[in-house]
Amino acid sequence: MVIVLEKNIRDDDKQRIRNFLEKNSLRVNEITGEEETIFGAVGKVGIDPREVEILPGVQRVIPISKPYKMASREFKREDSVVNVRGVKVGGRRVSVIAGPCAVESAEQIMESAARVAESGAVMLRGGAYKPRTSPYAFQGMGEEGVRILREAGDAYGLPVVTEIVSAEHIPAMRDYVDVYQIGARNMQNFELLKKVGALGKPVILKRGLSATIEEWLMAAEYLLASGTEDVILCERGIRTYERATRNTLDLSAIPVLRSLTHLPIIVDPSHAVGVRDKVSPMSLAAIAAGADGLIVEVHPCPDCALSDGAQSLYPEQFEKMMRDIEVLAPVVGRSVSRRPVPSSVLGGQKKKTAETSSASRPLTCAYSGGRGAYAEQAIQRYYDDEATALPMANFREVIHAVLDGRAEYGMLPIENSLAGSVYENYDNLALYEDIEIVGAVTLRIEHSLLALKGATIDDIQSVYSHPQGLAQCDDFLSKYPAWKHIETASTSGAAELVASAQDKTRAAIASEVNAAIYRLQSLKTGIETNPRNYTRFVVIARSGELVCENPNHSTVIFTVANRPGALHEALGLFMKHGLNLTKLESRPIQGEPWRYRFYANVNLPEGVASSVVAAEHMKAALAEMQKMSQDDGIVQGVRILGLYNTKELA
Ligand code: PEP
Ligand code: MN
Repeated sequence: MVIVLEKNIRDDDKQRIRNFLEKNSLRVNEITGEEETIFGAVGKVGIDPREVEILPGVQRVIPISKPYKMASREFKREDSVVNVRGVKVGGRRVSVIAGPCAVESAEQIMESAARVAESGAVMLRGGAYKPRTSPYAFQGMGEEGVRILREAGDAYGLPVVTEIVSAEHIPAMRDYVDVYQIGARNMQNFELLKKVGALGKPVILKRGLSATIEEWLMAAEYLLASGTEDVILCERGIRTYERATRNTLDLSAIPVLRSLTHLPIIVDPSHAVGVRDKVSPMSLAAIAAGADGLIVEVHPCPDCALSDGAQSLYPEQFEKMMRDIEVLAPVVGRSVSRRPVPSSVLGGQKKKTAETSSASRPLTCAYSGGRGAYAEQAIQRYYDDEATALPMANFREVIHAVLDGRAEYGMLPIENSLAGSVYENYDNLALYEDIEIVGAVTLRIEHSLLALKGATIDDIQSVYSHPQGLAQCDDFLSKYPAWKHIETASTSGAAELVASAQDKTRAAIASEVNAAIYRLQSLKTGIETNPRNYTRFVVIARSGELVCENPNHSTVIFTVANRPGALHEALGLFMKHGLNLTKLESRPIQGEPWRYRFYANVNLPEGVASSVVAAEHMKAALAEMQKMSQDDGIVQGVRILGLYNTKELA
């Protein structure tokens, strides 16, 4: 094992560690490097690394005796993300795969795909070659099954997952399958693992009926060593003495695996519990325990299913479960993965530029609020009235609309020059890994006092607005001390309320545009205390859909190690690459008290002939940051939120 010692370790602590290792029959080699001092300890006798880890002066212990290499966390520090035709598994997402145990007919699989897609599944499962305990049970539809599974997946934009039981079936499967599943019974079928690994496609590797975690990782090693880089581990319950459930779902495997491997981990609650009423509770438990996703059996008619009907959810149960997961996921710092926008929705184009996309079709941009909201104005002005503004109930809905294709873009406020950062959206940007910033716009916020037509300022007795609207106009309001101040959820909502009440004594503080929308009149415009009142919005899109050709701005998220100088070193990289850091925001990391996620805004350098070069500077800095995260973990979780253009609107 490798024992990394703390930087300022005391001599007596060092000696004590050495004595402890030697007493346990290990030979100790001291290696003094520039950055750190380590002890290499070798010997025939095994020793529990935890016993060494707790010794004073030990920073970390890296066992080098693991039989699996490529699957191990030491091999790759960052979590792996498996990308299945645009659907990602791993990272901060919860990706749900659903469908029947077996493909039974074209109608059955088509109906299954429709129902699971509607509820939010991102991939379709269905067995065509079924490894059944009894030779007399339904064995699956074979090649025909794989073909119709693919047709159903394509019809609803869902990549497909199906089990392979023999390498002989590869020719019949390879044109249709997106993810090969290795079933529990075949986890240690090493010849099959080698052949499937060599296909280079994503694989879901289920845990064997009585496999230890180490045996399971060795099976993953077979796949990785044979050629694929994309292995997803699936806990599906193990054989124990307990018979109340079909198997015993080992949820503790999730945190255990998390430290041993970088591979994504999903859970199959269906085969674990074997009865449908226990599937949803265990699904939620799996998400709470840190699973990257689920694979769940859902059948349009479980009572007519040819296999595993008893554990298959009714589509309505699946829908309810997905809603519950939607609520739970943010609590544990995750977001539910959504289906990518089918390319037909985007006019069949994959890569477009932010500048040319508006020419290709009328675009839609979602925002939070009602008609007349400032975000709506930001959309109209950013897109020169070329975009349809789609109102949503809240910021998360804006993101969901972008992810599932109802809108191409979203407009989210990120900071106000008087009130400061909109933290909710900073957190949303970190939570949703499949969105990126493709633009930014600064809008001047000018408030007006709006009332019914015919009303005069002397009629007014109460004034309605968002708390920000009231606060930003307090000089004006102080001239009318008798007025009552009533808070509303939004400024446009205040205008709507005054219009619907048809009461001359009420007024709203909102943008002037609301006068026309709600048939009101403006009694006074420009009533904000400080006319230098601006809100900066970011324009978001689904990641990878757009490329900005002339970026002048970038935002990057990262965290740093909890040690002196770590943030300083990370920030030093921006200077080194000539990048102008214009804003640094930090937000607490959920579940890790006193650790923060940093958001750095960077102006790409002026005077560089081509903005491509500017972007290269940024990428060089990030590459170096990423290297720092690999080398000694000073910087972690580096993510470019976007390379984009900012627009200033007066
Ligand atoms: C299945 O997913 O349908 C299946 C047979 O699972 P397992 O291999 O986990 O039993
Ligand atoms: Mn099954």
